[in-house]
Amino acid sequence: MKTKYIFLTGGVLSSVGKGVTAAALGRLLKERGYQVAVQKLDPYINVDPGTMSPYQHGEVFVLEDGAETDLDLGHYERFIDTNLNRVCNVTTGQVYEDVISRERRGDYLGGTIQVIPHITNVIKERIRQVPESTGAEIVLVEVGGTVGDIESLPFLEALRQMRGDIGRRNSFYIHVTWLPYIGATGELKTKPTQHSVRELRSIGISPDMIIARSDHPIEEELREKISLFCDVEKNAVIPMTTTDTLYNIPLILDEFGVGDYIFQKTKLEERQKPDWTTWQEMVAAMRRAKERIPIAVVGKYVELQDAYMSVREALQHAGLANRVDLDIDWIHSASLEEKDDLSFLEKYAGILVPGGFGGRGIEGKIKAIQFARENRIPYLGLCLGMQLMVVELARHHFGSQDANSTEFNPNTQHPVIDLMPDQREITDKGGTMRLGVYPCHLQPGTIAARAYGEDVVQERHRHRFEFNNAYRDELSQEGMVYSGLSPDGRLVEIAELKDHPFMLGTQFHPEFLSRPYRAHPLFTAFIKAAVEHSQN
Ligand code: GLN
Repeated sequence: MKTKYIFLTGGVLSSVGKGVTAAALGRLLKERGYQVAVQKLDPYINVDPGTMSPYQHGEVFVLEDGAETDLDLGHYERFIDTNLNRVCNVTTGQVYEDVISRERRGDYLGGTIQVIPHITNVIKERIRQVPESTGAEIVLVEVGGTVGDIESLPFLEALRQMRGDIGRRNSFYIHVTWLPYIGATGELKTKPTQHSVRELRSIGISPDMIIARSDHPIEEELREKISLFCDVEKNAVIPMTTTDTLYNIPLILDEFGVGDYIFQKTKLEERQKPDWTTWQEMVAAMRRAKERIPIAVVGKYVELQDAYMSVREALQHAGLANRVDLDIDWIHSASLEEKDDLSFLEKYAGILVPGGFGGRGIEGKIKAIQFARENRIPYLGLCLGMQLMVVELARHHFGSQDANSTEFNPNTQHPVIDLMPDQREITDKGGTMRLGVYPCHLQPGTIAARAYGEDVVQERHRHRFEFNNAYRDELSQEGMVYSGLSPDGRLVEIAELKDHPFMLGTQFHPEFLSRPYRAHPLFTAFIKAAVEHSQN
């Protein structure tokens, strides 16, 4: 069988849920018995989002192979439940870096290097690497941004050329647009969609399907109108009204016959009838009213929830696994710094400190951690949240506010968190952290070992600093247990506290491996402890 490629472009506005739509489509195709992968093409010039502020870009999602990628890759992995690799996120920066290094090597000797064909050829090469490297039979390719952006033109040109290269049967173009609602007349407008399709056509791409997003119900006449003006069959105009849970989207798309339509047009045979039973039960369970448990996430980028996308999803999955709903309050860590009285934190059944970089808000996070420890509130620390849990305990142990991570105070007397030895010589910021999956050995009899029910686990990392082994003995006098270690025993990957209902921190990011119907064991254990705390 020839690989089938499905290309997704966005029209009218960004942030209409193109990434989730791509992820949901992936699930839809996988349910029909095919191997599916999704690739994101990002038009910005950064080589990867690893160096970007979460305010610019939201979360950086880390893949198994250590690639720092767009947060949409998180949606893809959560919906499709396959591990993607670094080929699945391509940026303009990577493409130019590649072309320029070929030019310097002399690969194009004599030639003038141009956007077409040199840049577009590399883009097409990258697209074709997806089936090679993932084994996917169907590849979904999502282009970031909106049609009309200058930056995305080379990507769109490459997609246009792909149809010529691989043929009509093996390519399918979907345009995801937005229908604005005019309150005064109470109508949804299709004009921006028409313009966007026209713009796409002027580039040479005619969409085979339009997915029209809206916050309001989309009537049949509107589908007909879009079909007529945009020259797309009516049953290929898919109305997608905003839904209460993201995980409902594959079900909606399938109900509108999206899977059948794509299969028919690309002449794919259904290997199995999609069986949505488990997925439907999951969505029904999400919707059922449940006991509500208040959780505080104390972070630095809380104004933009996209910055903690996987943390939020992992918490929700763990809520579902414990049959509770979570009321998550996002607390700005810097706001805790001025407060003398943190007793308002008492109302939370659990406190979580996620990953982060840089000094702002650090003291606020440490105060929240101290509060969790002293008031026996379940605590989960992720990466920086683990490091600060160590700092907090060290301050308590030494009776000194000076204990710190050398990331925040290089001159501290008690550098309980310090740069990893192999990081000392590194000066470049991009792609140089300890990245990707590493094994972690769990120590028997610990909370972590009980939660996982396994001896060795594989978890994804993204950090430069680590627990300073010179302090292991001293902090174990305070009840700190090193429940997860690297295979050589040198790196502390999980630390937890004795004599506390649940106080645990991981040097890795468990949130990246949580799936809606397979919550991460540590998140599940954290929420279980939170439920117990709220019952006391
Ligand atoms: N800034 C810390 C480090 O580099 C923590 C990183 C993180 O939380 N991802 O080690």
